[in-house]
Amino acid sequence: MKIYNTLSGKKEEFVPIEPGKVRMYVCGPTVYNLIHIGNARPMIVFDTVRRYMEYKGYEVNFVSNFTDVDDKIIKKAMEEGVEASVISRRYIEECKKDMAAMNVRPATHHPLATEEIAGMLEMIGNLLEKHHAYVAQDGTVYFRTRSFEGYGKLSHKNLDDLRSGGRSLLVSGEDQKEDALDFVLWKPKKDGEPYWDSPWCQGRPGWHIECSVMSRKYLGEEIDIHAGGEDLIFPHHENEIAQSEAANGHTFARYWMHNGFLNIDHKKMSKSLGNFFTVRDISEKYDLQVLRFFMLSAHYRSPLNFSAELMEAAGNGLLRIVTSVENLKFLAGNAKEKTLQETEAKCLQEADSYRVKFEEAMEDDFNTADAIAAIFELVKFTNTSVSPQSSLPLIGGLLERIRTLADILGLVVDKKEEILDEEIEALIEARAAARKSRDFSRADAIRAQLLDQGIILEDTREGVKWRRA
Ligand code: AMP
Ligand code: ZN
Repeated sequence: MKIYNTLSGKKEEFVPIEPGKVRMYVCGPTVYNLIHIGNARPMIVFDTVRRYMEYKGYEVNFVSNFTDVDDKIIKKAMEEGVEASVISRRYIEECKKDMAAMNVRPATHHPLATEEIAGMLEMIGNLLEKHHAYVAQDGTVYFRTRSFEGYGKLSHKNLDDLRSGGRSLLVSGEDQKEDALDFVLWKPKKDGEPYWDSPWCQGRPGWHIECSVMSRKYLGEEIDIHAGGEDLIFPHHENEIAQSEAANGHTFARYWMHNGFLNIDHKKMSKSLGNFFTVRDISEKYDLQVLRFFMLSAHYRSPLNFSAELMEAAGNGLLRIVTSVENLKFLAGNAKEKTLQETEAKCLQEADSYRVKFEEAMEDDFNTADAIAAIFELVKFTNTSVSPQSSLPLIGGLLERIRTLADILGLVVDKKEEILDEEIEALIEARAAARKSRDFSRADAIRAQLLDQGIILEDTREGVKWRRA
């Protein structure tokens, strides 16, 4: 399996640290708003990487954080007159709903920055002891980038150029830095902000330290894959490497994977530019399976421009697979012949050649575009190979092959059984009864079951409301 490693700028053979196991960390979103479809790209892409690894038999420990303390969260909390944790908790819940609706599986661990402060204080203390960090007069702790020899190895930037331009880049209060490229590990609190005690000042962590600390805690000092969008290469991932390698004394991550941007009108989609669609917006117009298909129809490292035409093409592509699956299910229900015929056995063998093609595409740095093309070929082959006279094992065999490949990409190709309004109401009542008798695990199970069927529940003051995802 070959993976393009940003660190070397080359495709490299994937060799895990521990045979049969993969330790993988993906930088997650800052939770102050509904996620937009740019944020959804790394979620879908790296969920697919994880699914493929699992298909190949690896046990994947997949960690993805939520950044739940940050300027933007604090600003929103102040605007609403609530604690920052109210905002972050709200948007973590919303993000999890969007992930489920896109068929992105929950991570093995979803750590929160605010719950890992002790680990951050420990790592910062360690960096200070080793003179990789220093405390400025106001209590801010900075990482001393000049003390870390490998600084810049991931982003391949010319650091001296950055440094010479750096003074003008300093924001107010940063004139206590020794070097323009030094970055904050810990900073003093401002009025009304959440803060924690520390040996240096009451304050809160800088952004980068959380990932170094969580990655070490949940995956160990050295991990296989670290991933995120390409905007994170510099400074975020460069700084993570500096912190972790300076503190631990050896390699942090072996393979660095970065997805290209999702653009709109060929410009990066982002909250700060205001040119974005949330996943929720898109779910009102399209099935989110179409969004997933659209994302995977391009190579993950290429830029991808969002447009109604491409979404329509994705919808048609997905429909081709779904229609074939529905046809196979219909034929299976009516098949009279129960034994596989000799010519049919050959047909199943031929069908396996498309799985081989699919795997070759995925093993070449997760070329999902070619992997989808292999599924299309399998679908075309299937459509011409079956008839009402086909045996059940042939139909079942082809069905299973299509479903397996689609599932690796996280694509749901079986039409959802439409759940009726009355059934939903009945389940909502059953959930209310369970809550009344304090059987919260049953209540949660009902909520999860409904979510699985695309029904989202909202607990409001006027009672429970529901909608279809
Ligand atoms: P943020 O909440 O900005 O920290 O972003 C969370 C994740 O989404 C990071 O991995 C970002 O690199 C990624 N991301 C943000 N915007 C885009 C975009 N337009 N296209 C692709 N990835 C993005
Ligand atoms: Zn990170």
